[in-house]
Amino acid sequence: MRVLIVGGGGREHALAWKCAQSQRVKHVYVAPGNAGTALEPRLTNVGIAADDIEALLAFAIREDIELTIVGPEAPLVAGIVDRFAAANRRCFGPSRAAARLEGSKAFTKDFLSRHGIPTASFATFTKTNFDAEYVRAQRLPLVVKADGLAAGKGVVICETHESANAAAAAMLGGSFGAAGRSIVIEEFLSGEEVSFIVVAGGQQVLALATSQDHKRRDDGDLGPNTGGMGAYSPAAIVGAPLHRRIMHEVIEPTLSGLRRDGNPYTGFLYAGLMIAADGTPNVLEFNCRFGDPEAQPILMRLQSDLPGLCEAALNGTLEQYEVRWDSRAALGVVMAAGGYPNAFRTGDPISGLDIAAGLPGKIFHAGTRVEDAQIVTAGGRVLCAVGLGDSVGAAQRQAYALVQAIHWNLVQYRLDIGCRAIARESA
Ligand code: AMP
Repeated sequence: MRVLIVGGGGREHALAWKCAQSQRVKHVYVAPGNAGTALEPRLTNVGIAADDIEALLAFAIREDIELTIVGPEAPLVAGIVDRFAAANRRCFGPSRAAARLEGSKAFTKDFLSRHGIPTASFATFTKTNFDAEYVRAQRLPLVVKADGLAAGKGVVICETHESANAAAAAMLGGSFGAAGRSIVIEEFLSGEEVSFIVVAGGQQVLALATSQDHKRRDDGDLGPNTGGMGAYSPAAIVGAPLHRRIMHEVIEPTLSGLRRDGNPYTGFLYAGLMIAADGTPNVLEFNCRFGDPEAQPILMRLQSDLPGLCEAALNGTLEQYEVRWDSRAALGVVMAAGGYPNAFRTGDPISGLDIAAGLPGKIFHAGTRVEDAQIVTAGGRVLCAVGLGDSVGAAQRQAYALVQAIHWNLVQYRLDIGCRAIARESA
């Protein structure tokens, strides 16, 4: 079969690399891909943007693509799955209606409260009904969120009522464009943050190996929020009892609620959770796609056939599917361009990739491109170096040996990815 992967980041490099290992797959196309997918055996980049749904569909029809897997959220929220379905092309991901779980925080908060799924208390406002008095009556800190997709930047945690009102006014005034036309103001939750990713096929569901990411830029989980600076799998914090609670209290009621509302969900579903002191898994957010960088370490551990897993979800046979995982831990360190997550340079030549290729582990590319036969930086998150090992600590050593082999001007990365898991291991 021929497979098309939509997207061009590290997650898509990992999805494409894993699909290419399948015995049943003849060739994998990646639109638009990056330098990593350009150089990988059995992968070919296609010069179509991830949100150009019509061009992607025309390509899938012309090249007789049997399975399309969508990486990023934007084409899902824009309805790529519905468009492919209307043309009888299999496309793995949620429909536009189901992808609103990520596309609109106001929709999701309303959905969660209607279906009794644990989440922070909240109120939703637009410009016309915004109530500064409501804000003043709330306990601090307060969390102000833009309703729509804001590239991970639409959440502000406010320590004073004045700053909450100012954040709300800025969003409603257009600082995030259409994404801030509605806002959600919610209670601040404390606890430990956990991400939980499943493959869903209607009411059937298969939990992927557990993982944990590091969102802050700097060591010690400090500094600004980013798309993710590293991740590892498994996450020991999600033991069997918490796993059961998340499935019973969050994942299953979410999938059955969507189905009852007429929007059955197929695809990767990512729940961002805050685990309260009493173990309650409160939903902070949903993503309608695989996490990036969680996909890189999780897919390093996946031994089963990835296209087969997606097809089982599409065919409604997920419950018979037996997924196999490498028992080793995997850990990925994101190497980012200097300045990221703010303004960053591109076009810097990357050295040492040839040396890294001879070491154990795997480099997944994200923001890279080939320029005059040289691989150069082309995005904020540039590479993800993934190591495997018998413990998270061993996987971390392998990942950082890869990192040490690679260099470019103003490269930045964290030195402590996996630190909390490693502290638990040594305890
Ligand atoms: P979100 O995009 O909704 O996941 O928010 C991004 C980040 O903001 C989360 O990963 C949390 O670290 C933080 N956050 C969001 N909502 C809350 C909340 N209600 N309480 C505490 N932290 C939050």
